Amino acid sequence: MSFEYHEPTSLAEAVALGARFGDDGRFLAGGTDLIIQMHRGKLRPRHVVSLHRVSGLDAIDANGAVRLGALVTHRALERFPAFQGRLRALVEGAEVVGGHQVRNVGTVGGNIVNASPAADVVPVLLTLDASVTCLGPGGERTLRLEDFLIGSGRTARRPDELLTSVRFAGLAPRSATAFLKAGRRRAMEISVVCVAGRLTLDASGERCLEARIALGAVAPRTLRAHEAERFLEQRALTAETLREAARLATAACQPISDVRASARYRRLLVETLVPRVLARCVERVREQAS
Ligand SMILES: Cc1cc2nc3c(=O)[nH]c(=O)nc-3n(C[C@H](O)[C@H](O)[C@H](O)COP(=O)(O)OP(=O)(O)OC[C@H]3O[C@@H](n4cnc5c(N)ncnc54)[C@H](O)[C@@H]3O)c2cc1C
Repeated sequence: MSFEYHEPTSLAEAVALGARFGDDGRFLAGGTDLIIQMHRGKLRPRHVVSLHRVSGLDAIDANGAVRLGALVTHRALERFPAFQGRLRALVEGAEVVGGHQVRNVGTVGGNIVNASPAADVVPVLLTLDASVTCLGPGGERTLRLEDFLIGSGRTARRPDELLTSVRFAGLAPRSATAFLKAGRRRAMEISVVCVAGRLTLDASGERCLEARIALGAVAPRTLRAHEAERFLEQRALTAETLREAARLATAACQPISDVRASARYRRLLVETLVPRVLARCVERVREQAS
């Protein structure tokens, strides 16, 4: 594994290096995906551009709308006080990423750009209708996260672009989020299946106004369960409607069988976890009201 290592100290310098190296270069954040892929020979960049000395990329702004710098770590998400309430799914996604060492250095930006279908924070961000901002030699562009994720390990990022931030709007009143992961072991293991949800309820707390469901590890990229979401909107949230939403979400999956689980087991997990995540969102909205 031979490469040149670069440590820019400003965004402008990092972008200039990205533009100079293009496909021959890779940005380095926490390195928890990149270094492993380089060790395995899956990636062989000739230039590694570390982002550690670029200031301002690890900030969290949460005054209404939320902006996460690309270098925000999973640990920082877990600890951020404003995410302990209605945005709890962000904490729940971050706190199950690998072990302590991985969470201390692994970043939100890395989780997104790595584009693993089993990434844990990505589904939560999808339920928040997040968008990502990339900066390249041609300037800045912002894309919906859902459009940014193209396939397993593939995104709409151009090779010379740096992901700088991810943003989403603040939640409407009577909204809540939840995330659940099924893995083979509690720690240090990527998801067999993970499910994130967000619901907004009406004033009675019975009817769904807006629903978001995202599924990990059941398709080449993290999926939104659009049909299930549409089914829930304007309906009373009974056990039966949650089950039907789970059925529709399961129908949207295209899981594979691998060493972690069979495709059939993954479908069963989706059918079980979707109603649990949604029920948890309902409970959380009702707790806010009480
Ligand atoms: C033991 C272990 C367990 C793990 N368990 C989990 C798990 O349970 N759940 C989970 O989701 N993940 C898991 N992971 C994967 C990994 O930790 C996460 O995906 C993490 O968020 C990656 O972030 P990073 O900062 O380390 O990315 P890096 O490894 O630094 O980068 C990953 C990719 O993104 C690119 N990149 C990074 N930042 C930027 C940027 N700002 N702009 C442009 N490109 C960028 C890099 O060039 C590289 O291609 C695990 C990893 C290990 C080693």
